Amino acid sequence: MPKKILIVDDDKFLLDMYTLKFSKAGYDVKTSDSTEGGLALLRGGYVPDIMLSDIVMPGLDGLELVAAIRKESLIPGAVIIMLTNQGGSDDVARAKKLSVDGYIVKATTIPSEVLTEVEKICASKAHPAS
Ligand SMILES: [Mg+2]
Repeated sequence: MPKKILIVDDDKFLLDMYTLKFSKAGYDVKTSDSTEGGLALLRGGYVPDIMLSDIVMPGLDGLELVAAIRKESLIPGAVIIMLTNQGGSDDVARAKKLSVDGYIVKATTIPSEVLTEVEKICASKAHPAS
């Protein structure tokens, strides 16, 4: 069964690029260009294995999206990864409180490396270093 990934980013160019990358790698990809749209998918019963979300978006930001996911106990088994901006230490602190599984710094990670980073984070969650 292909792994299901939900990608939330208001940048449509990046969304298309990520979709292509993950689809080619055999993932079952769903996207939303808004946090509200992503939340609607999850509330509607869509259960991805992985959610990759941008933080800076209009309306609810990506971390507010995760807060809603936690509050409503949506996708408790999913790996949640945030796309952060460089120097966003506040974001990292907020993300830690929400038990986010990992972060990818947008400025230093080219979109083609995002797949590799996501797989690394998933592997470390599956086999935590003791
Ligand atoms: Mg954005």
